[in-house]
Amino acid sequence: MRKFTGSELLVATHNAGKLEEFHQILAPFGITVTSAAEHALPEPEETGTTFVENARIKAYAAAEATGLPALADDSGLEVLALDGAPGVYTADWAETPQGRDFVMAMEKTHAALLAKAAPEPWQARFCCTLVLAWPDGQDVVFEGFANGHLVWPRRGQDGHGYDPMFQPEGENRTFAEMSHAEKNARSHRGAAIKALIEGCFS
Ligand code: IMP
Repeated sequence: MRKFTGSELLVATHNAGKLEEFHQILAPFGITVTSAAEHALPEPEETGTTFVENARIKAYAAAEATGLPALADDSGLEVLALDGAPGVYTADWAETPQGRDFVMAMEKTHAALLAKAAPEPWQARFCCTLVLAWPDGQDVVFEGFANGHLVWPRRGQDGHGYDPMFQPEGENRTFAEMSHAEKNARSHRGAAIKALIEGCFS
């Protein structure tokens, strides 16, 4: 597998919550994380129908624009009783004319479960696909998952996105009730980054 040999990694995301998680997880490896915003990169349209397609779109857009290897993440929440929705459209469920509203998106998810009379526990998983792409057209792909269930009412102040309604397996707190370190140790993104580190940084 191709190794990453630099000391600075461009993370092709405009999502501040995700960026912070990459910073925290990669800091111990002495890797400086820079963002799409710091490189003034536009946000490409995510036209893929799978996590890996969207992650490739974002990674190659950044690598081609900067000439640097770029890492992109595409992630989402799959709810078993909703046949895997919102899945690749997780961020879209939060869209409003004024920007993303995740309280609304969580309410929508809860309403969809009630509309289906889905029995609890509402099993769900967060998925994360990472693509590290080089400007010469090579890439590597890693995946991570966090299994758990959805809770209502939502709980916790920390975290981002759908964290307040997701309780990982074996825990009695949601991701939004955990410290960053606790979440990273259990999260889909943490698992995918661990695989990336083992594959490309060691
Ligand atoms: P995308 O990967 O930018 O398409 O966005 C995926 C969406 O999934 C994000 O906007 C979040 O709403 C949601 N999501 C992904 N990872 C997490 C997480 O760790 N916690 C909460 N929500 C997440």
